[in-house]
Amino acid sequence: VLIGLAILFIGVALLLSHFMSKRALVPIQESYNRQREFVANASHELRTPLSVIFSSVEALEMDGEITANDFSQKILHRLREEVKRMTKLINDLLTLARSDSEHASLELVKDIFDFRPHAERTLQSFEDLAMKKEIHLHFDAPESVIISGDTDKLTQLLYILLDNAIKYTPNNGEVTLQLRVEPFKHQHMLTISVKDTGIGIPREDIARIFDRFYRVDKARSRQYGGHGLGLSIAKWIVDAHKGRIEVHSEVGKGTEFIVKIPF
Ligand code: ADP
Repeated sequence: VLIGLAILFIGVALLLSHFMSKRALVPIQESYNRQREFVANASHELRTPLSVIFSSVEALEMDGEITANDFSQKILHRLREEVKRMTKLINDLLTLARSDSEHASLELVKDIFDFRPHAERTLQSFEDLAMKKEIHLHFDAPESVIISGDTDKLTQLLYILLDNAIKYTPNNGEVTLQLRVEPFKHQHMLTISVKDTGIGIPREDIARIFDRFYRVDKARSRQYGGHGLGLSIAKWIVDAHKGRIEVHSEVGKGTEFIVKIPF
């Protein structure tokens, strides 16, 4: 009888724990999905009014009478910069909300293509900014870099890493973008390196820089702008390609992000 009772007790306990964990999990998953959908829908809806504001500011900037006034010109410039910043934040939120879906890897549109011209163009898009800070940009890649992956997402990844490298490098620094493709087991491996001679990342922060909204110390965050979403998007793009991302950094000396993507 005792053994029978013990078996019955264990059975009931197992059933109860199974039932309760399911009941607890379903609402959490459901509310998580709802929250993700809300962020995705809200970001999507905000994009249209923002692009209307942006084109209106552009139209005003073309009006000679308005821009003749220094004060109006200054306000318009401030408006344009803030709208640009908000658009970036909203696009980042939308990308992250989509990346959270169960079918995140289906968001990739894979192609076989030459990555070199995309990388070169992305680096060139930073030339003006780099020139203002007297930062030297270097590009080191073979004549063609034929890979398989999502062209837009991999270009976005480069953009994020280069944007950070230039943002966190003081005047007169160096930023180098290097691409390599090498055989790897029965496949190939694309290696991307973005190296700077910037302020570096303290050792204790490295583990958290890929977290959403994480920014290394508040004072420098205010100085450099940004909202702490870039690297979480970069990490998602690398994960969706089944690759990995490493960081080597020394405070005051510089940082190198190395991405490895098998294909
Ligand atoms: P942010 O918009 O703040 O740049 P990210 O997610 O791209 O957001 O980066 C997170 C944090 O990691 C940044 O706030 C910055 O402190 C640090 N970081 C990223 N890249 C670099 C770099 N190349 N050099 C120094 N610090 C960096």
